[in-house]
Amino acid sequence: MDDLILRGGIVGGAPQDLAIREGRIREIRPGIATPAGATLDIAGKLVLPGFVESHIHPDKAFVADRSPGLGRGGPTAQVLVAALKQAFTVEDVYTRARRVMRLAVRHGTTAMRAHVEIDPYVGLRGVEALLRLQAELAGFLDLQLVAFAQEGIFHDDASRDLLREGLRLGLPVLGGCPYMDTDQRGHIDWFFDTAEAAGVPLDFHCDSSDDVSRLTCDYVAEQTIARGMQGRVSLGHLCMLDVLEPDRRARVIDRLREAGIHAVSLPATEMHVRGRTDPRRTWRGVTRIEELRAAGVNVAISTNNIVNPFTPYGHPDLLRQALVAAMAAHLGNLDQLAWVPELITVNPARILGLADYGLREGARADLVVLDATDPAQAITEQSEKLWVLKAGRVVARNTRTTELVAALSGDARAPIGAGTP
Ligand SMILES: [Zn+2]
Repeated sequence: MDDLILRGGIVGGAPQDLAIREGRIREIRPGIATPAGATLDIAGKLVLPGFVESHIHPDKAFVADRSPGLGRGGPTAQVLVAALKQAFTVEDVYTRARRVMRLAVRHGTTAMRAHVEIDPYVGLRGVEALLRLQAELAGFLDLQLVAFAQEGIFHDDASRDLLREGLRLGLPVLGGCPYMDTDQRGHIDWFFDTAEAAGVPLDFHCDSSDDVSRLTCDYVAEQTIARGMQGRVSLGHLCMLDVLEPDRRARVIDRLREAGIHAVSLPATEMHVRGRTDPRRTWRGVTRIEELRAAGVNVAISTNNIVNPFTPYGHPDLLRQALVAAMAAHLGNLDQLAWVPELITVNPARILGLADYGLREGARADLVVLDATDPAQAITEQSEKLWVLKAGRVVARNTRTTELVAALSGDARAPIGAGTP
């Protein structure tokens, strides 16, 4: 007997039933008639695999009210947050990060890679808080933690040892930030050496400015190939690709593909932080999502920051990020909107190395049921995520209530207040 059957949802463009047994998708086809412990009528509602956040910072979320934020001639977001995090306690990080996780699950996220800052300012307090949260969220959200060097590693003697300690505490990914050090190649080399020694994948914040003399993603690709780490290196931002000459950009992107680099675009942050000093035009900073995808690079979009100086309006709702990306990166045609959901589902799942992920028989039943019939409608209307399932269990149920007067409801017989738009 199946545990649950979802009836009539839109899967792969057609209405189908979806049978779930022991946390996995047993079968997808129309008219499943086998007995089940429960059924859910989702007729005509779009089913997607659970959303996957591939780059987010819950440890520094919800601190916008502690900072003046970015302003003309003022300090950078890095400087503002570095000052704040010295006062972070384990309980403070835990409470704010938990708020992020609750919102993420409510909005359809079933797996997440989160960067945890490790440096002399905050020590390992963020690690302690996030490891506690990770244990509490088991069964609701898969949380993968990155030992992350936001402040660089060559400004002090403590950071490198602290990062190694983060790995010893069980963090399964090492995260660098080359542009925070003057010696970017030395920074990248240390991360490759350390990741090789620990046997962990790498995730760099990379090429976030428009100064092409500081380009490093080509060197990261070279090192990835030289060390046989293809498919185990991810690069966030990659804003610089946008301003490279087209011929050079094509060569660099081809090198990224050859190295099996995963690209993660962070459009909400780019549009808030980049292009603040040019008096002629406001560069938006978003990387070339469509060119990367067309060249065969695995590309994802992710939330990055939440209500802090980097992104004061950040929110861990990946459907919102899909709309932001569509707006920022010229992804508006129906064929483009049809593949945009891949950027928040199957593509980031590859980055996290999720086994048994996807909308297919045998995969784990991590699912989102949307109040839409197709991806374009879901993105455009920011449709409600009606049900969120983790391993076959409903972990969030959302509803929206709307009241329209009779003349607007489309049904003259309907009483005022009835119907949905
Ligand atoms: Zn980031």
